[in-house]
Amino acid sequence: MQKEEISMTFLWKPEWNFIIYKGFIFLLHSKIEIKELEWYVCDHLFRQYNQDKRQFEKESLVKAMLNSYLRYRNSNLHHLSEMMTVIVENLVARRVIKEIKNNSFELASRLSRLQCSKCFYICYLIDNEPRNCSRCTSSELHVFPRKNNKYPVKK
Ligand SMILES: [Zn+2]
Repeated sequence: MQKEEISMTFLWKPEWNFIIYKGFIFLLHSKIEIKELEWYVCDHLFRQYNQDKRQFEKESLVKAMLNSYLRYRNSNLHHLSEMMTVIVENLVARRVIKEIKNNSFELASRLSRLQCSKCFYICYLIDNEPRNCSRCTSSELHVFPRKNNKYPVKK
């Protein structure tokens, strides 16, 4: 039988929000906090994509969050930068972005902004990701905002 010695090593995976070090678990940031920031980062990348800006650095993302979103205006720079490291890893794993050189990235594919018809959540997905709502997994997604109103309001 193999003996696993996970407590002896420094273990960390980007999809985990904690560190196991010498048998102790250190929580880094809550999953909700990470998910929320990831959403804002995708929103920012979507807007950048539409302005033909596909390349960026990790630090420029942190600055963009502080400057463009009220939600993060008073955030701690260090805290935001730490979370951004996790998010960048997540986005690389999702193949939304790819690293071109140290801490420089580019969008790997077109990002679409889609709204779920069931729960109204807005998701940002790249072309080869399954078309499912990130909140309720429904496959009824439509482009947001709708380009042509298929259901005109009755006068
Ligand atoms: Zn949904």
